Amino acid sequence: MAELKLTGVDKSYGATQVLRGIDLEIERGELIVFVGPSGCGKSTLLRMIAGLEKISGGTLEIGGVRMNDVPPAQRGIAMVFQSYALYPHMTVRENMAFALEIAKVPKSERMAKVDRAADMLQLTPYLDRLPKALSGGQRQRVAIGRAIVRDPEVYLFDEPLSNLDAALRVATRIEIAQLKERMPEATMIYVTHDQVEAMTLASRIVVLADRGIAQVGTPLELYETPRNEFVARFIGSPSMNLLPGTIARAGATTEVALAGGGRATVAIATEPGSEGREVNLGVRPEDLSPAPEGTPALYSGEVDYTEALGEVTLLYFVAEPGAGQGVIAKFPGIHRGLRRRQVALTAPPEKLHLFADGQSLRAA
Ligand code: ADP
Repeated sequence: MAELKLTGVDKSYGATQVLRGIDLEIERGELIVFVGPSGCGKSTLLRMIAGLEKISGGTLEIGGVRMNDVPPAQRGIAMVFQSYALYPHMTVRENMAFALEIAKVPKSERMAKVDRAADMLQLTPYLDRLPKALSGGQRQRVAIGRAIVRDPEVYLFDEPLSNLDAALRVATRIEIAQLKERMPEATMIYVTHDQVEAMTLASRIVVLADRGIAQVGTPLELYETPRNEFVARFIGSPSMNLLPGTIARAGATTEVALAGGGRATVAIATEPGSEGREVNLGVRPEDLSPAPEGTPALYSGEVDYTEALGEVTLLYFVAEPGAGQGVIAKFPGIHRGLRRRQVALTAPPEKLHLFADGQSLRAA
């Protein structure tokens, strides 16, 4: 049985529908990440699960029990927010024990739970400090500790790292991943707009777009087999290139004639008779490499500018007029002197993606 089940969940604010028909099952022990562009309803969905926001339609079940009208405190959930909001005059121990004190948990039990959570979060040496004597990352850990002592069925995280600077974000992200390993039974739902967090933490990612779920899958499923152009562009950085073309030969593999003059063989089967169908060829910047002399190129163009990041070099090609952003390629290592040069690109057939009407042509 799923730990958490959403069936046909809708959310409207007045006449404005924000989420529509959300169906999702989350198993015990999963770490699910909600991602999507700003305003797509990630926080709203999380807050509906928490009980902080009314559900307009559909059902929410936690542990097999309908929760739509159950108050937040009785849902067996604990939420960690981006602002950790610790009580400044209380020590770490007092901050972590506070909710238990309110719930009238006996002192010895309270202390045992705080000690266990502190140990799990490596906060034991700081238990008698005030929050002002902690780093931002340590404060966020105390906020997580407050959730752990309550022993919830489901942990909800709303952008918990977004107040931390870049280095601390990375360190705290790794701590959360390690914490999850120490709590294999804990079910966690995590909202972020940071796709690196999503890719590194999630057991499965839920991509939200256009009021619904664009795709649910493991991080690598979304990266390798995006179901639509939205997910293809959203996961991965820089985004996947989409090149317009038509199917030149259908079959077990598909040949595409690209509008820019290139040709590509794609390891995706298409129905006989699909020749002439308009498609977008998807190719990730990291899957492009220089086409050897005398071989057919998938794309050929002038490099507009480059960014040398050391471990990789990004090549930005001049866009066709009216074609929006030009092609981007990511070559491993350092490449000097490519700016303003004409470069021909190729990619392995099994790395290419094919979309028609925004949907992947890869068989599910
Ligand atoms: P995200 O977390 O993905 O950035 P939100 O869940 O915060 O998005 O918001 C989803 C949409 O719902 C946005 O368009 C936002 O403007 C709208 N929204 C959120 N809260 C309210 C509210 N209380 N009243 C009206 N509209 C709201």
